[in-house]
Amino acid sequence: TSGFDVAAVRQDFPILSQQVNGKPLVYLDNGASAQKPQAVLDAMDRYYREMHSNVHRGAHTLGDRATTAFEGARETVRGFLNAESTRQIIWTRGTTEAINLVANGLAPRLKAGDEILVSYMEHHANIVPWQMVAERTGAKVVPVQVTPDGELDLDSFNSLLGDRTRVLAITHVSNVLGTINPVAPLIEQAKALGVITVLDGAQAVPHFQPDVQALGCDFYAFSSHKVFGPTGIGVLYGKEQLLEEMPPYQGGGEMIERVSFERTTWNTLPYKFEAGTPAIAEAVGLGAAIDYLNGFDRQAMEAAENALLTRANELLETVPGMSLIGTAKRKVPVLSFKIDGLHPSDIGTLLDQQGIAIRTGHHCAMPLMDFYGVPGTARASFAFYNTLEEVDQLFTGLQKIQRLFA
Ligand code: PMP
Repeated sequence: TSGFDVAAVRQDFPILSQQVNGKPLVYLDNGASAQKPQAVLDAMDRYYREMHSNVHRGAHTLGDRATTAFEGARETVRGFLNAESTRQIIWTRGTTEAINLVANGLAPRLKAGDEILVSYMEHHANIVPWQMVAERTGAKVVPVQVTPDGELDLDSFNSLLGDRTRVLAITHVSNVLGTINPVAPLIEQAKALGVITVLDGAQAVPHFQPDVQALGCDFYAFSSHKVFGPTGIGVLYGKEQLLEEMPPYQGGGEMIERVSFERTTWNTLPYKFEAGTPAIAEAVGLGAAIDYLNGFDRQAMEAAENALLTRANELLETVPGMSLIGTAKRKVPVLSFKIDGLHPSDIGTLLDQQGIAIRTGHHCAMPLMDFYGVPGTARASFAFYNTLEEVDQLFTGLQKIQRLFA
């Protein structure tokens, strides 16, 4: 594809050029966690070698350097999401913590009879925190149905969104189906009813850049490790007014303005939600990952990813008994599949022997597995550094397994 040189890109990811089980590694488990470019490793290494200290403590030069790098990364994330202000960018441990923070923060607004609308295609991270807050408040978690193709069922959405709905918490992209949900119009409908909207962007950001202002959502969450940054850090974007109104999530240092035994007051945004020493090197690493992505023509990158998906779809019929779960019209390159006569976990093990890494199981989406009546699926999830040859290798591997074991 023009404008995108995958061979050159792969040179940026040292982990990819190794043998696993005597075969060149074919890494197709990017949905679980993506690999890191040298630029991220270098940024974190340099941070620890040259500038590490605690942040926001001021009194010395290293502290200033660390703070500058840390806050610079926050500005990079702001730009990535097109948020208005860095006050709206809160560091969390990941998507999971970001959603827990929002659920906890919205609890004071919820009461018996209120409804939190999610969907059958949510990751457990966008179900369980809402169930926990529902338990506390008497609110109810209500799931929107999905279609056999793996799209949100809009009739179901329209029948469930109503006077009782207080929160719409929905995934931008499904980690199992790859479906890109039409979130903008859904948010618009929800907003018209005064519903607070929360997007789980964990699987969206590795494939395209969301614009939170264009989307109009109140909250947007994602994890660094899925967008080519380090583990241990993630982001919550929120509308300023809601963040101001929400109570803090955890108490401790950094999140306070003044502490006394009579009365403690909170720090300004975003620090009100950042108790304790943050993941500084990880923030710097995430900033470097986004800078790295910004160096590409994102359109060319998306075209290259789409070519992987097209190739995979063309090869489907070369494996007898193979069928996809998730055939939405708009999707990212994720293939959840089953093969007649084979258990998903055996497919995973047998591919691993050929150096091919995929994921098998319920993918933290048990309600979706129940919905499709499967115990689990095998899932190959691609990133921009995967090649057409790797797609071919996956299918050659599957053909072999099918011939020998199905
Ligand atoms: N939501 C979705 C759609 C995901 O795919 C994941 C990660 N599998 C999460 C949330 C949770 O992300 P994390 O484990 O990084 O908090």
